[in-house]
Amino acid sequence: MNKATTAVYPGTFDPITNGHIDIIERGARLFNYVVVAIAENPGKHPLFSLQQRRELAVLALAHLPNVRIVAFSGLLVDLVHEVGAQVILRGLRAVSDFEYEFQLASMNRRLDARVETVFLTPAEHYAFISSSLVREIARLSGPVAEFVPSVVATALMAKFSEQGA
Ligand code: ADP
Repeated sequence: MNKATTAVYPGTFDPITNGHIDIIERGARLFNYVVVAIAENPGKHPLFSLQQRRELAVLALAHLPNVRIVAFSGLLVDLVHEVGAQVILRGLRAVSDFEYEFQLASMNRRLDARVETVFLTPAEHYAFISSSLVREIARLSGPVAEFVPSVVATALMAKFSEQGA
């Protein structure tokens, strides 16, 4: 790859998990830069605020020098141009992800034909992790240390003890 390529990895990251990090690490080896774009996504009623999700991602990705983290609330293809990227990166865990991801990629292509979507798959032992399951386990005081970085596990514990108080 001799062109300077920047990929945007968008998502809700509520919160960032080891599965997301696996995809970002793979992306950071393939592309010159990866911009992790945290969507405000009010429709999903996130557990963590946009600012908290951004802070957790910054801490969890501090070991990757060619990765930066931004928060956004507009159209993804607009952000892609704003940061000078050419690629949208997404993760595929299972066949169940495919339909939605295919629709999203097709819509983004319709919105801007110059932007390509690239899919990466995580290591097998991360394929079953989702932010929603992690939130549910943490809410029920179950162990999440295996699925998220320690800063995220701590933030989840704090969040649910604050809500329970
Ligand atoms: P969104 O609300 O956009 O789906 P998510 O934060 O849930 O945001 O996911 C962002 C991207 O990361 C999606 O492409 C999703 O399929 C992918 N992803 C989520 N969890 C994992 C995982 N464990 N392994 C690989 N990819 C994942």
